Amino acid sequence: MEFCDLKRQYAAYQSELDAAIRSVVQSATFINGDEIRLLEEELAGYLEVKHALACGSGTDALLLSLLALGLCPGDEVICPAFSFIAPASMVALCGGKPVFAEVSPVDFNLDVSRIEEKITSKTRGIIAVSLFGQCAGLDEINLLAAKHGLWVIEDGAQSFGAAISGRKSCGMTDVATTSFFPAKPLGCYGDGGAVFTDNDELAATVRQLRAHGQEKRYHHRRIGINGRMDTLQAAILRVKLRHFDEELKVRQQAAGWYTSLLKGFVETPVVAAGKTSSWAQYTIRSKNRDELKVALAEKNIPSTVHYPLPLPRQEAFAKDVQPGEQFPVSGELCKTVLSLPMHGMITEEEVRKVAGVIVETVGKV
Ligand SMILES: *Cc1c(COP(=O)(O)O)cnc(C)c1O
Repeated sequence: MEFCDLKRQYAAYQSELDAAIRSVVQSATFINGDEIRLLEEELAGYLEVKHALACGSGTDALLLSLLALGLCPGDEVICPAFSFIAPASMVALCGGKPVFAEVSPVDFNLDVSRIEEKITSKTRGIIAVSLFGQCAGLDEINLLAAKHGLWVIEDGAQSFGAAISGRKSCGMTDVATTSFFPAKPLGCYGDGGAVFTDNDELAATVRQLRAHGQEKRYHHRRIGINGRMDTLQAAILRVKLRHFDEELKVRQQAAGWYTSLLKGFVETPVVAAGKTSSWAQYTIRSKNRDELKVALAEKNIPSTVHYPLPLPRQEAFAKDVQPGEQFPVSGELCKTVLSLPMHGMITEEEVRKVAGVIVETVGKV
């Protein structure tokens, strides 16, 4: 069994994907090809945002957003303590200080009641990661940010396709980013990402920043990076975007099967009323996590620990954490979470097999 079965997905869309790839190769427009503009239009339409800007990765999308927002050395940005490293590390790379805030044990996202205590006169913004596919409390976070004059970035690397009361992830904050890493809900065949915003000025700035700050060819308005997406990746994403909603339905169905089979044996994920998850991960919690992982591996079922260490405990952030600062919820999650096979082509039989091993193992320990 695969954790995320990209081979099955390729087989399903093979003729469309092969044609899209061949067309780019034949046109030889590997950089800034038409597919980039078309993908951007389709993404903006899908999310109902004004601007979608394709870029090299989800990490580049975060870096470009922070640069466009004018993050300066010494500026503080609030980031969740339990997350992938990219949002906090891009803050640090810009010379800013990631200030870690505790997450909620219910949805693994920023605990909104624990944000305000981290705001200082140096705070510029909040990066709300929408972890495992469910949006963070963006309405509450936006209100809090407005009250304190801060910007909000949603890191929607895992939540592309999710929604709050019908409003789509990546369209509810000043800026949002996503990743098209192959195993994300919408993935390409390499690295890719995008920045989304309704703000014309920010969009224009990101556009320049991703092309070495140039306003027109070889005329550089600002210092930027090479943060473009390859035309090939855009062509692949356009094919996959056409099938994305069907895959989302499969993920939602699979999550429902998992939950009904596993409830009472482990802690199953909770999606808040009004929210829909894109189920980037189906992540359970159990005090027997390590035994479960071994039992699954014995049956050739892959599972993953997202994430084994709270970010404030990472050596790379040693100087960004106050001595004695504690993150007990994040610490507990790191010891108990386990992500199970999940993708847009998973079958009921596969879900039953995974759940069967878990139920059996929990009965034994
Ligand atoms: C994957 C991921 C990223 C980084 O995306 P890349 O495309 O791998 O650079 C950023 N944030 C979160 C939450 C992610 O899951």
